[in-house]
Amino acid sequence: MGAASAAPNITMTAPAPKCPYIGRFAPSPSGPLHFGSLVSAVASYLDAKAHNGTWLVRMDDIDPPREMPGAADLILQQLQQHSLNWDGDVLYQSQRSGAYLATLEKLQHKGLVYPCQCSRQQLKKQGGIHPSRCQLKDPSAPAALRLAAPAQSQIEFEDIFQGQQRQNIKHEVGDVVLHRKDSLFAYQLAVVVDDAFQQISHIIRGSDLLSSTPRQICLQQLLGLLTPQYGHIPVATNPDGQKLSKQNLTPSIDAKTASANLASALRWLGLPLPKARYSASSHELLSWGIEHWQRKLISPVMEKVTFNR
Ligand code: GLU
Repeated sequence: MGAASAAPNITMTAPAPKCPYIGRFAPSPSGPLHFGSLVSAVASYLDAKAHNGTWLVRMDDIDPPREMPGAADLILQQLQQHSLNWDGDVLYQSQRSGAYLATLEKLQHKGLVYPCQCSRQQLKKQGGIHPSRCQLKDPSAPAALRLAAPAQSQIEFEDIFQGQQRQNIKHEVGDVVLHRKDSLFAYQLAVVVDDAFQQISHIIRGSDLLSSTPRQICLQQLLGLLTPQYGHIPVATNPDGQKLSKQNLTPSIDAKTASANLASALRWLGLPLPKARYSASSHELLSWGIEHWQRKLISPVMEKVTFNR
């Protein structure tokens, strides 16, 4: 995956969707919101509202082994405490298995899905890339289901913040898992099904997901779905260059300092508050952010250090 430079052999180009603007924030409930996820929520909210759009929240709760009990409710509470009020009802991926199964079957009918029992070690030997159909050692044992990526799978798209991108799925990623060996639906399938179901037109999220986007566009094209516009903001890292996460003990944001948290997020997004706004409420800060939001203030880099969180 890389920024496109030389003239590529484009075989699948993402079409831009027709508006209205529908954006979304789709947290995984693996822990409460921390500064990094707050920044993503604020960026997607401001971009949607600055374009008179709708802002949805979807709970990506399809991976129970990675979830923290109570985190889904806590995240929603934290969003509200920061005046990040979503439009409509929250969609829970845990309630969407029927839609994922129907889509998987659609791809199966097209002959685009095959079972695979390869171990992590086997995959590692191939640089993590699964190139094509494989022999099942024991047809009765659990198997993952993979998408047979088309041979011509060069995907190109223009990212709102990171510029022109391209990736050859077959060569750079291989055949992606749609349904896991442990019987759970894979993120790549679920996200595509739900973004289409919710008619998402714009996806503003962290750059840690930039390399997943061509896979999602490839799936959209195979399913005849529209491709949203994508914008990947830099991910917030600690001074050691690690992405802020539960794993490196990034603390949860504290609702008692909601205004200060939002002021830090706005500053991080290129919108330092003028002094006159220092005592503003969360709601006022977000309104100010909507008024001043400019996409060009987001630097086209994958990571940005945050020192004070
Ligand atoms: N649920 C994913 C995460 O929290 C984000 C999904 C997305 O924005 O596509 O990393």
